[in-house]
Amino acid sequence: MIRSLSSFDLKDKRVLIRVDYNVPFKDGVVQDAYRIQCSIPTIKECLKAGASVVLMSHLGRPNGKINDNYSLISVGEVLSDFLEIPIKFSHDCINEDSINVTIGLHSGEVHLLENLRFHSGEEENDFEFSRLLSKHGQIFINDAFGTSHRSHASNVGVSDNFMHKGMGLLMEKEILYLQDKFKKPKEPLVLLLGGAKIADKIDMIERFLIDAKSILIGGGMTFTFLRAMGINVGKSMFDEQMISTANTIIKKARRNRVKIVFPVDFVISDAIDKPSKIEIVSFDSIPDDMIGLDIGPETIKLFSKIILQSGTILWNGPMGVFEKKEFENGTKSIANLLSELMDQNIVTIVGGGDSASAIRKFSNIENITHVSTGGGASLELLGGKSLPAITALEKL
Ligand code: AMP
Repeated sequence: MIRSLSSFDLKDKRVLIRVDYNVPFKDGVVQDAYRIQCSIPTIKECLKAGASVVLMSHLGRPNGKINDNYSLISVGEVLSDFLEIPIKFSHDCINEDSINVTIGLHSGEVHLLENLRFHSGEEENDFEFSRLLSKHGQIFINDAFGTSHRSHASNVGVSDNFMHKGMGLLMEKEILYLQDKFKKPKEPLVLLLGGAKIADKIDMIERFLIDAKSILIGGGMTFTFLRAMGINVGKSMFDEQMISTANTIIKKARRNRVKIVFPVDFVISDAIDKPSKIEIVSFDSIPDDMIGLDIGPETIKLFSKIILQSGTILWNGPMGVFEKKEFENGTKSIANLLSELMDQNIVTIVGGGDSASAIRKFSNIENITHVSTGGGASLELLGGKSLPAITALEKL
């Protein structure tokens, strides 16, 4: 069993929290503060209970070397705005100065440590590095769902050094919606998959081939399935190596009476960038020199009808190249539809990564039951795998 935040006596304690501040970043400016915002409830809960808080995170891939381009200083500024209090910042996460700052914290104070990945010990799950990190807290809370599929010092190594450890509010919500809720989902359960890479989603498809009523497939991965069925896909993307897997999935679905629904039409074009010709064609009429880049209007109608009849809808992966205005319509329509389902008592769960960005870009995240902060981690948990950083919290 994993302890939740409310089970700890936090008064006058130093709480070390692993957060996920691996945020999109450009020229030293945070581009999207969603992950920072999602960490606030846990931090505030600790402060309200009389604790002081030490936060640790990685940002990008500095590969074990100090690199100012990956400093968490600007993240600290955004964080301080969210919390509406000044925070302390240390330029190194394990040096003596940083540990002294932690020891000097008063209840209600927050201390942010510099990027964990400035030390190679982080990704190597180095024993000594995790031992030094552990000096920052009396209680360890992991709230960094996005890195839970990795065995690093700040999530797995550190856990072994604490008697008192547990999950933060964000981690708890992620586990609730990506794992526990699927033990007994509100029926019918519909899975909507898209994106480019089919390989990443195989575990998830296999798992839901048992529980789901329907699996709707859009995005680039559609064309691997169409190829498996012997349909010409023109110059659309497909994964040659996954064709036989796609075939197996189609057969299994038939056996299990799970309906796999493919697009009936596509938006096709001669090019992704600067297209000179854009058309809508039926799924089996893509000319040899054209690329399928979005689902078409009839598919949007078909998918919407099935989604509206669901009890739970789980969405992972965009329906087309949504980064381009010309090919965003399928993804945008789905994002809009999902944000209108709360009143109809339909549970809407969105895996992290591109589908989460699409929801934020095209609709209101507040109207979705749960939008995951984790990309790879959400795919693995939904695929039924146990994640090392979550398992580490169970061990005493
Ligand atoms: P993934 O990481 O596998 O979920 O893939 C997300 C990416 O798939 C996005 O960047 C989309 O632009 C891309 N994508 C979706 N549909 C297509 C398509 N029909 N052709 C090419 N790329 C696509």
